[in-house]
Amino acid sequence: MFESLQDRLGSILNGLTGRGALSEKDVSAALREVRRALLEADVALEVVRSFTDKVREKAVGADVLKSIKPGQMVVKIVHDELVAMLGEEGVAIDLNAPAPLVVMMVGLQGSGKTTTTGKIAARLASRDKKKALMASLDTRRPAAQEQLRQLGEQTGVDTLPIVAGQSPTQIAERAVQAARLGGHDIVILDTAGRTHIDEPLMVEMADIKAKSSPHEILLVADALTGQDAVNLARNFDERVGITGLVLTRMDGDGRGGAALSMRAVTGKPIKLIGTGEKMDALEEFHPRRIADRILGMGDIVSLVEKAAETIDAEKAQVMADRMKAGKFDLNDLSDQLRQMQKMGGMSGFMGLMPGMGKMKDQIAAAGLDDTVFRRQLAIISSMTKKERANPDILKHSRKKRIAAGSGTNAAEINKLLKMHRQMADMMKAMGGKGKKAGMLGKMM
Ligand code: GDP
Ligand code: MG
Repeated sequence: MFESLQDRLGSILNGLTGRGALSEKDVSAALREVRRALLEADVALEVVRSFTDKVREKAVGADVLKSIKPGQMVVKIVHDELVAMLGEEGVAIDLNAPAPLVVMMVGLQGSGKTTTTGKIAARLASRDKKKALMASLDTRRPAAQEQLRQLGEQTGVDTLPIVAGQSPTQIAERAVQAARLGGHDIVILDTAGRTHIDEPLMVEMADIKAKSSPHEILLVADALTGQDAVNLARNFDERVGITGLVLTRMDGDGRGGAALSMRAVTGKPIKLIGTGEKMDALEEFHPRRIADRILGMGDIVSLVEKAAETIDAEKAQVMADRMKAGKFDLNDLSDQLRQMQKMGGMSGFMGLMPGMGKMKDQIAAAGLDDTVFRRQLAIISSMTKKERANPDILKHSRKKRIAAGSGTNAAEINKLLKMHRQMADMMKAMGGKGKKAGMLGKMM
C-alpha cells in the first residue's frame, strides 16, 4: 500500500557513486523523499521540519564508508534519529507514590480512554498484584459509566458505584475517598472527552486535576490522528500537564506518525500502546518498531541492519589502522566502547578486529560489563573535544567538572585514563613490532 522509503530513495541515490563525505546535495535530495514518507505516515508538518533539519545537520559531511551507498547511509542516519526522537523504551506507569495513587486518563472522545482504563487496571491487578479502583467521570454520555462498570465486571476490577447527578469533580473526590476506605492501591479516573479540544474540556480537566492530585496524567490518542496530533498534545500538555502518552489503535494500518508528533512537541514518554479492543491488547512501546513502521517497514529494517553491520565492520578496520599508527585518543576509545556495547560486549568486537581474536578470553575475564561501559562512556562524553584529543591536560579541576557532569568520581576517571594510556601504549607497541597479545592482562 505504501511505497517504501527505499523505493523512493532508490532512483535518486543509486545514481550517486561518490565516496567520502555526504554532500549537501546528496542529503537534500534524500531528505525530500524522507519528508514525503514522513508526511504520508501522518507526522505533523512542523515535526517533519524540525526532524529533517536535525538529520541534515547530522548527515551533511558524515563519512560514507566504502561498501555503503550514500542513500543507505542517509537511511541509517534517518532511522537512528527517528528512534532517538521517539524516546525511551519501556517507560512504565510510575507506581512509586503512597496509596491511593491516582492515574487520570485524558483525551478526545472515542480515543480509547475507557478501554485503556480497563486494560491498565486489569494489568495492574494481574501482573503487579495491585488493587485498582476505576471510576468513570464521563457524565456527558449516558452509557459511559455503565461501559466502565461492565469492563470492571469482565476483568474483575472494582468500579466506583454509579451515583446519578454528581459532577465530574464530585465523582473524582468520591473515588479517592472510596479508594482510601477500600484499601485500593490505585484509582484510575476515566474522564469524558469531546469531539475536539475546547475551553470547557480544558477547564473540566484542570478542575479534576486540582481535586484529585493525580500522580500520572496519561493522554490517550488514536494512532491515526494526523496533523491534529501536535495541537492535541500541546494543548493537553500546556493546559493540564501530562506525564505520558498512550497510543491506541496501533493494530490498524496507519503508520503511526502521531507517535513522533506528540512525543516531539511534549517530550513526554510514550508509555503504552493499544493493539486491539480486547482487554489484553496493551503493549509496551518499542521506538525501533515504530520507527520502522513510520519509514515503511520490512525492507527498511533489513537495509538498516545490513548497513549497520557493514558500518561496524568498517569502523573496526579504521580503528585497527589508527591503533597500529599509534593514534588512539579518547575519541577512539569512546567509539570503541560504543561499538563493543552494540556488539554484545568486548569479545564480539575483538573478534572482528584483525589479529585480535585471541584477546577475547582475557577481556572477558577482566569483567568489562555493560555498566562499566556506560559509566566510561558518560565520563568521556562529559569531556570537551580538546580534552578527548589530549587527555594529558586533565588535571584536578577538570576532573572535578567531568565527575560532576558524568555522575562519577575522580577515582573512576583516573581508572579510565590509566586504561586508555595502557591501551594506547599497547597499540603503539603492537604497531611497531607486530606483536599482538601479552599486555592485556595487566591493562585492567
Ligand atoms: P473513549 O471515548 O476515549 O472512552 O473511547 P473508548 O474506550 O470507548 O473506545 C472507543 C472505541 O475504540 C471502542 O470501540 C474500543 O473498543 C475501540 N478501541 C479502543 N482502543 C483500541 C485499540 O487499541 N485498538 C482497536 N482496534 N480499537 C480500540
Ligand atoms: Mg469513555
